[in-house]
Amino acid sequence: IEHQAPKKLVILGGGESGVGTAVLGMQKGFEVFVSDFGNIKEKYKQVLINNAIEFEDGGHTSERILTADLVMKSPGIPEKAPIVKALLEKGVKVISEIEFASAYTNATIVGITGSNGKTTTATLVYELLKKDLNVALGGNIGDSFALQVSEGKFENYVLELSSFQLDGIVAFAPHISVLTNLSPDHLDRYEYDYNKYIASKFRITENQTEDDYFIYDADDVEINKWLDSHEIKAKKIPFSIKRKIEEGAYLEDNNIIITLHNNIFTMPLATLGVQGQHNTKNAMAASTVATLLKIRKQTIRECLEKFQGVEHRLEKVLKINNVMYINDSKATNVNATFYALDSMTTPTVWIVGGVDKGNDYSELLPLVNEKVKAIVCLGVDNEKIKAAFGNISDMIVETAGMQEAVKVAYKLADRNDTVLLSPACASFDLFTSYEDRGRQFKEAVRHL
Ligand code: ADP
Repeated sequence: IEHQAPKKLVILGGGESGVGTAVLGMQKGFEVFVSDFGNIKEKYKQVLINNAIEFEDGGHTSERILTADLVMKSPGIPEKAPIVKALLEKGVKVISEIEFASAYTNATIVGITGSNGKTTTATLVYELLKKDLNVALGGNIGDSFALQVSEGKFENYVLELSSFQLDGIVAFAPHISVLTNLSPDHLDRYEYDYNKYIASKFRITENQTEDDYFIYDADDVEINKWLDSHEIKAKKIPFSIKRKIEEGAYLEDNNIIITLHNNIFTMPLATLGVQGQHNTKNAMAASTVATLLKIRKQTIRECLEKFQGVEHRLEKVLKINNVMYINDSKATNVNATFYALDSMTTPTVWIVGGVDKGNDYSELLPLVNEKVKAIVCLGVDNEKIKAAFGNISDMIVETAGMQEAVKVAYKLADRNDTVLLSPACASFDLFTSYEDRGRQFKEAVRHL
C-alpha cells in the first residue's frame, strides 16, 4: 500500500482504533476525516480536537467519504454496511488499523488470534516479555496499536487480533503469529459459512515469510484440516496437550516441555497460576513466544506462577460457606463454557444463558451430566437451554436478573460446591456488555 501524503484518509468509526489511526495518519501527513454513524465518545472527540482532526458523528456524509484515497474501517463495521459497499464498488482501498499502523513501524510484532483465549494469551505474552523487552500491548485490547505507533517508542508489540481486523489486512505480517483454536463464532458476519470465518483467522499468516513463526494448537481438528490442505511459509510450531511434539510444546508427566532449536524449557503444571486445560494451552502458546524471543527461563517460570488470568475469565470472586464463586462472564460461546465446565473440580451450580448465537449445546451434555448439580437460567433464550438439558438435569431454575440468579445459586449450593457464571451466550439482553454482566455478578456475590 502507498501511504504517501498528502492523501485523503477517511476513517469510519470514531472509537479506539479509529481515533488512534486518525492521529497516526495526521502525523504522517494525510488529510484525515473521521466519520461515525453513531456517537463519538467525548474523550475521543477531545483527542480529535486536540490534534485538529476533522470529524462528524450521527451519520455519514457519503459525498465526502467517497472522495477518499484510502479508508480505514473500524472492525465493528460490517462489510455489508452501505457506505463500505459504496466505497468498495468505487474501488477505494478499505483497510484495518492493523494494516495501516504496521506500515509505520519496524518493531517486532506478535499477533494473536483464535476463537477463544486471545485476550488471555496476549496478556500473558505481554507479561512474559515486559521485564526484558520494550513492549506494548494493543489491537483488540488496551490502547490503540496505531496510537502507540504514533508515539514511536516501542520495539515490540503484542497484538490481539479479531477476525474482523484480519479481514482488513493487505500486507500485514507478524513476526510471530499464534492461532489459539477454532470454533464457530460471529458467523453472522461470514454469511453463516464456517469456512469463511476459518479462512479469515488464517489470514494472520498469509504474509509471513520463512523467517517468521506460526504457533498453533495441534490438537485442534479444524486447524489441522486447514494445514493439511494449505501451504504456510512461516515455520510451524505446534503445541499439544495430547501428544509429544519434536519442535514445539507438549505435556509429559504433568510438566510443560518446550523444545526449540535444542533449547529445552520445562515447568511443572502444578506451579501455573491459572487452572484448566485451556489455560495450560494458553500458557504453552505464550511461553513458546517468549522462548522464541529469548526471554530467560527463570523469568518465564516466575511470570507463569504469578499470572492469575484476566478479569471475567474464570475469575475467582469469593468463597462463602466454603462455596467458590467464579465469574466467567467472557464465556460468550459454547466452546469457552466447555472449558470452564471441564475445569470444575467440585459439584457445580451453573448460571447460564443470555442471547443465543445459534448455540448447539450437545457438546456440553457429558460435562453437565458429570459436574453440574443445578442449572440457573439467566437470559431471554432459556427455552433452548431447558430443551437441551431437561433430560439430564432435574434442577433447572429460571431467573430474571443477576441478583435473583445469584441468590438462587446460593441456596442451591452446598458446602464445597462451586457456583459458576459461564453464560455461553452474548450479554445484550440484560446487560450492556460481558464486563457489565461480570461486574453485576461480583456485586451480587459480595452482597450475599
Ligand atoms: P478471547 O479474547 O478470544 O475472547 P479470552 O481470553 O477473553 O478469549 O477468553 C474468553 C473465554 O474463553 C473465557 O471464558 C475463557 O475462560 C475461555 N478460554 C480462554 N482460553 C481458552 C482456550 N484456549 N480455549 C477455549 N476457551 C478458552
